[in-house]
Amino acid sequence: MEHYEPPADGGAGAHDASAYDLCDHCGQVVLGEELLGALVPDSSAVHASDPALDGRRVITACSAEHLAALVDEYRGRPFVPEEQWAAKVCRALADYEEPVPLAVVAALSGLSEHQAQQGVDWHNARAREWRAQYGDPDAPGEYGDPDGPGAGPGD
Ligand SMILES: [Zn+2]
Repeated sequence: MEHYEPPADGGAGAHDASAYDLCDHCGQVVLGEELLGALVPDSSAVHASDPALDGRRVITACSAEHLAALVDEYRGRPFVPEEQWAAKVCRALADYEEPVPLAVVAALSGLSEHQAQQGVDWHNARAREWRAQYGDPDAPGEYGDPDGPGAGPGD
């Protein structure tokens, strides 16, 4: 393709961002060197490039108290495998604009076809819930689900 995009610089302030972070509990800006961090299980999290780090989220806090509160909060959250598979599928498909066969989806996301299908189903169920709540047919797309809604409200 003739369309070439130079590597994104992130714009102004992108470099300073690494020096500061926010406390995930109270939102306070904390200097990077004073920041406390922990790795917690989170089925909605996938690492941008390293699948070995999938399913874990780095949380940051301003103090030991807030870190403990956050760890507690995540500990109370159920780890949903389907959510994790859905996140892996979404990451794998981020570079694709055309529909991708399930076998390819599975290979790309490092899952079995069964897991990939479960992930797709989970994603589609969320998309359906979203539409049910907000009623927008153009809302988050489903990955080719044959059981359409049929006769919807209004014509
Ligand atoms: Zn805090």
